[in-house]
Amino acid sequence: MGPLRNAYLDALGIDRWVSRNAPAELVPDVSGAGKGLSGLPDAPTVRAPSTKPENPFPVPSTLPPSADWGVLRERVAACTACAELCRTRTQTVFGVGNTRAEWLVIGEAPGAEEDRQGEPFVGRAGQLLNAMLLAIGLPRETVFIANILKCRPPGNRDPKPEEVSRCLPYLTNQIALLKPKIILAVGRIAAQNLLATDAPLARLRGKLHTFGEANTPLVITYHPAYLLRTPSDKRKAWEDLKFARATHARVTASGSA
Ligand code: SF4
Repeated sequence: MGPLRNAYLDALGIDRWVSRNAPAELVPDVSGAGKGLSGLPDAPTVRAPSTKPENPFPVPSTLPPSADWGVLRERVAACTACAELCRTRTQTVFGVGNTRAEWLVIGEAPGAEEDRQGEPFVGRAGQLLNAMLLAIGLPRETVFIANILKCRPPGNRDPKPEEVSRCLPYLTNQIALLKPKIILAVGRIAAQNLLATDAPLARLRGKLHTFGEANTPLVITYHPAYLLRTPSDKRKAWEDLKFARATHARVTASGSA
């Protein structure tokens, strides 16, 4: 383990330890929740959610997918599909990052600072996300970061199902354009909506899921805002990140994505 990674583990508040017999990152997960790095678990039969919005009203997000990032960005910026959200938002938060990224990070929805700046994961939670990504060798600018919802729910309430239904086509359009090799979903809301399940986060972590028709590998971990409130779970998040890194390495090596 190099000094750079040690520095980021320190930033995450994770104690470093060294196995008597092996480097720490090669030690299988012993948490009981994760599968560790000793082999990918069987992918569950969880299928991707339908991308058809359930609301019966024609809204901009029901337009055919765009093959152009700029067009998609303009559609999102002009979207008024959710009457409450487009009235209370400062601006839409499309997503940010490298449009050729192999990693796609998906969160829940913009918060107050994201709504002000027009960028996902800024502020303290964003800084922690950056540290988490760097801990597995990923500077923020090398990944793409987006949210389930492009507009901030007032008071940071949970997204409503109909809002997710309206907004999800934008995210699936982004995924179709990006073609990521792996998706890292952070937090319960992102995980449950991507997998169309109400299972608790504890049951979703530590497993390899897939998303969409391309069966893109999908790994679940905690939202950095949660980790700021519950630093004792940072070690479990580190296990998730190592699992995601190993999954990406295997996908890349097999050329299957
Ligand atoms: S949350 Fe999504 S669907 Fe709703 S108004 Fe914003 S961009 Fe449109």
